[in-house]
Amino acid sequence: MGDMVVIGELAPDGTLTKLSTEVATLARSLAEAAGVGATAVIPVAGADAAAAELAEFVTSVVVDGGAGPDATPSQRAAVVAAGLDGADHVLIPASPDGRDLAGALSALTGWGVLANGVAARWSDEGPVVVQSAFGGKLVTESAFIGGHGIVTIRPNAVTAEPLGSPGTVGTRATQPAGTIAPVALLDRIVAENAAVSIDDARIIVAGGRGVGGPEGFGLVQELADALGGAVGASRAAVDSGWIPYSQQIGQTGKIVKPQLYLALGISGAIQHKVGMQTAETIIAVNRDPDAPIADFADVLVVGDLFDVGRAMLVELRSRSG
Ligand SMILES: Cc1cc2nc3c(=O)[nH]c(=O)nc-3n(C[C@H](O)[C@H](O)[C@H](O)COP(=O)(O)OP(=O)(O)OC[C@H]3O[C@@H](n4cnc5c(N)ncnc54)[C@H](O)[C@@H]3O)c2cc1C
Repeated sequence: MGDMVVIGELAPDGTLTKLSTEVATLARSLAEAAGVGATAVIPVAGADAAAAELAEFVTSVVVDGGAGPDATPSQRAAVVAAGLDGADHVLIPASPDGRDLAGALSALTGWGVLANGVAARWSDEGPVVVQSAFGGKLVTESAFIGGHGIVTIRPNAVTAEPLGSPGTVGTRATQPAGTIAPVALLDRIVAENAAVSIDDARIIVAGGRGVGGPEGFGLVQELADALGGAVGASRAAVDSGWIPYSQQIGQTGKIVKPQLYLALGISGAIQHKVGMQTAETIIAVNRDPDAPIADFADVLVVGDLFDVGRAMLVELRSRSG
């Protein structure tokens, strides 16, 4: 069995993404189980600081300058494909760019993709990838036929664990392999008034249809501020135009894993649950004691969310003052 390659990726500000450290941790444990090596490749020229950070999680990191800082995911895929060098499996973050890269890499190599994995273990045949289907109602396990494959891993599926001592960092500049229909990057637009990101938030206060309108999110925001957290939402609130899609949690939104998830006026539909069920503590405020969220919340406060939320605010502010 050949080595395992894991792709490291950068955030728009040039720092390493947390998801890269999670996927690197998984690649390391799979490689250990398989008795092969694991190498992280960051296909971005000059990503030395990010590489040093990634070396905390995997024994060997290579910055491949064959792709420039503004390369598109498909251009990066052409560089990764040319540098695979005896590797049999590639693990990639299931981020928007990572998904693009995985698709292009599949086209260039002819390898299959197991997308959006939430876990993986090693078997004699290769990685067995766990995926969640039908909004979490079904969990599947899949493996590759033929010994090669590409796996994308969802955020917050794995806990990043650093190595005891950091790995090595090297550089190279691989000539891209093959051609793939170019996708031009026309512009990068920074969202105006962007809300605090929910991706890595330790505390999330989320609002659903129960908040009643955009003004209802004022209380949600105040609670998030008082707790030092970020604001999330159900799809019902996003579809109503009360809050941007970037804050949606669930099957067609983001998967989050905060220490505390405070859900206000959210019923707990399965498609929402799959995005937040791994939160360490879930506190729900709902006026319906039989709402589905009662089945999996650690604490259910039955009452009007505005009464309960304002009382919480008073208490939080009295404690911080
Ligand atoms: C393919 C597909 C993908 C989907 N993806 C997602 C997804 O990613 N994320 C997602 O969230 N949903 C998703 N959904 C939608 C999902 O099925 C639910 O419709 C949605 O989660 C409901 O949002 P909600 O809980 O805010 O609203 P509701 O289900 O309407 O619940 C509102 C809750 O608020 C309570 N409430 C009302 N007023 C108050 C008050 N004043 N005080 C206290 N409680 C109050 C009610 O008792 C109720 O429990 C998806 C659906 C499909 C079919």
